[in-house]
Order: sequence, then structure tokens, then C-alpha cells
Amino acid sequence: MPAPLPTTAVWSVPMRTRFRGLTSRDGVLVRGDAGWGEFSPFWDYDAAESAAWWRAAREASDEGWPAPVRDRVPVNVTIPAVDAETAHRLVRASGGCTTAKVKVAEPGQSLADEVARLEAVRDALGPGGAIRVDANAAWDVDTAAARLAVLDRAAGGLEYAEQPVPTVADLAALRRRTSVPLAADESVRRAADPLAVARAHAADIVVLKVQPLGGVRACLRIAQECGLPVVVSSALESSVGLAAGVALAAALPDLPYACGLATAQLLTADVVRDPLLPVDGALPVRRPVPDPDLLASHAAPADLDARWRARVEEVRA
Ligand SMILES: [Mg+2]
Repeated sequence: MPAPLPTTAVWSVPMRTRFRGLTSRDGVLVRGDAGWGEFSPFWDYDAAESAAWWRAAREASDEGWPAPVRDRVPVNVTIPAVDAETAHRLVRASGGCTTAKVKVAEPGQSLADEVARLEAVRDALGPGGAIRVDANAAWDVDTAAARLAVLDRAAGGLEYAEQPVPTVADLAALRRRTSVPLAADESVRRAADPLAVARAHAADIVVLKVQPLGGVRACLRIAQECGLPVVVSSALESSVGLAAGVALAAALPDLPYACGLATAQLLTADVVRDPLLPVDGALPVRRPVPDPDLLASHAAPADLDARWRARVEEVRA
């Protein structure tokens, strides 16, 4: 029998802009001897896939994290599939971020929409900024090769393209056809073997997310074994969950790229008084604590609370 549940809180907060098909984000916070952890697998993840997310939450609540080797983590501003004017404004309001990650391949949008968005982001960042795109595995290899050539020009040079195509074999094939460096995200976090992409020389960079990969220590092992540069990204957590990503980024021996951890801005509210928001383009390495009043005001409605508690029981079984 699993041990009794530690103190928990279920939260739910609307997104500022529809993102990854989501209009709100929710999850469970779990308190243990080492602090608070977050369990917030997306609803399209089943119990088997969600087990890693639970391990990450319990690592945070019961063990804490390895010691940091840096005290600030450079981060990118994330630009959803918005119009050019909004994209420009988001970059300028990003808290000094000099790297932008721009969502592309949004259903219903055209290549012209993406070009306009990238041009606006370049204009807002200036020539010294870095621009990466994320297609969330939406393209086939031919489409990706053609699109990346256009988007690379529109952006005035892309730093990299994140998961432009679905599979490791696709990434490997595309890598031979584009000069844009490729980063693997879904091919790492939803793969049976997170190292397959490195062994196949299918990517230049890996994106590691703490919850889907089972915790900070698990990610540090993957980073070491795959031997590729790492970009730590969030799974759109509250600042409690983001702190685990910050802890990973702070503990990595090398951190050559800005991380995708400035996503608290995508939520309309947070469960902590001092959210992990960028200052001068970086997050400070710290661990904010949930505020009881904010937990109360952002508590999930009863039906959602019940769904989350059932989900926890399912992964603990
Ligand atoms: Mg991604």
C-alpha cells in the first residue's frame, strides 16, 4: 500500500493566450519534508506516462534537488501563435529576454502569418537577439525543409528549430537537408528511450523537461549520457513546478542556450507571491513557496479537484 498522501492542493488558472490548445492550466501541489512539488501532466497523458511526472513531484517534495552551479538562468520569451503586433509587444514586455521562441505550424495559420510573426520578433529583439521556432512535430520532412528555409530568412537567422518533424528518423533525415540546427523535444520526452535521438545523430540540441522525464536527477543523467547541449523547458507549470526546471538548469555543468522557463507569464495568475519571472532576461535560482491565500483563490472547482485526486491515486497505484 502506498503511504498516506502528504498535504496537497489542486490549482487551476486561465492562460493569457490559448497555448498548446490549452485555455487554462491546472495541477496538484504536493508538500513533503523537502518542500512543495508539482504534479501537472497534461490531460492527454495516461497513467503510465504520468508516472514520471509523479516521480518528479515527489523528488521535489521528499528529496529536494542537487546543488546549483550558477545563480541565474537565462531564459527565452515564448511567443504563442499570435499576430505580428502582439508578438512584438510580448518581446518588448518580456523582462529583458534576448532570445525568443516562436510557435509555428499552428492549425489554421499560413506561412505568411509565420513570416510576419518572425519579422516582428526580429524587429523587437534587434539584430543581437536569438530566435528559435517550435513546430511541435507538425511537419513532414519535405514541408519542414521548405518552411525552415523561408522562416530562417524571415527571422534573419534561426538559432534552431524545435521538433519540426515527429520521429527520430524524420529528424535525422531533415538534419541532412537543412542548415538550421535541430532540437529534439517530443522525441525525448515522449520516447521509450530518451537517448535514441542522440545515438541516431538526429538532433543538435535536446530539450529536457523535468516532469515528463521523471525529475531533476533523471534529467541530469540523460544530459550526461546523451552528450548534447541541453535546453531546459517547462511544461507550463506554476512557479512551484518551474522551480524544478530552474534547479535542473542551475545544476547542469554547461548551459549554452537560454532556457524555456519564462512561462509563468503565459498564466494569468500564480500560486506564489513572487512568481519566477525574468529579470534582465534571466530567472534567479530560487524556490518560491505557495501562498495559502493564492492557493485558496486559485483552487480548482470541485469536479476538477476530484479528477486530479483520482489521477494521483491512479499513478500511485
Ligand atoms: Mg517544444
